[in-house]
Amino acid sequence: MTISPAIFPPLIRAVQADIAANAEAVTELDQAIGDGDHVFNLQRGLQALAEQADAIAPLDWPAAWQKIGMTVMAAVGGASGSLYATLFIALHKHSRDSSVSGFAAAFAAAVEAVKQRGKADVGEKTMLDVWVPVALALQQDAEAGKSLDELLDHLCQVAAAGVEATRDMLATKGRASFLGERSLGHIDAGAKTAQLIVAAVARVLKT
Ligand code: ADP
Ligand code: MG
Ligand code: MG
Repeated sequence: MTISPAIFPPLIRAVQADIAANAEAVTELDQAIGDGDHVFNLQRGLQALAEQADAIAPLDWPAAWQKIGMTVMAAVGGASGSLYATLFIALHKHSRDSSVSGFAAAFAAAVEAVKQRGKADVGEKTMLDVWVPVALALQQDAEAGKSLDELLDHLCQVAAAGVEATRDMLATKGRASFLGERSLGHIDAGAKTAQLIVAAVARVLKT
């Protein structure tokens, strides 16, 4: 089973729709322990990607990831913008083939690059609390030869658990870390949008 960048236009539309549908809730999360601009930052990036979607669709994956990364880097501010640009540029560097296991290995390396860029790891109440367990589950399921549908359902579960886990974490990275113990009891906005992205991508790949 291979997936080509031809899937990119509907993927971006699905992610845009889900972020829009959850915009108010996510903004409240970033207002509670951040500066309230996370949805705005993300939507700027998604809009820029939507404008490039037809140019990205005919490319191969390495070229597609490069264009995606450069587009995000140019369009998005905030911590999340540079971290997502890092993720996509690293996917460009590590992209080998279009197989699920090839993508899983590249994705794991890209999440490592995000960890290094943000000097952060799981347990610090960030998007990494979704991306790290998702990358691990993806690699394990690809290795185990799970069907794409099973794998996608599993990734959605892992992402949802990752978001929920951020509620009781003390933020030690990003703006929320300025709040110390007052960050406790709130879900991290960047973890929530990472989960929304996983769910939207899974929905498109399953149909
Ligand atoms: P900013 O914090 O600059 O306003 P955003 O609001 O767009 O940027 O993004 C905030 C999100 O970025 C946080 O909710 C968190 O998930 C993520 N984040 C912040 N700092 C880091 C970091 N060092 N490593 C990983 N993710 C981070
Ligand atoms: Mg913010
Ligand atoms: Mg900001």
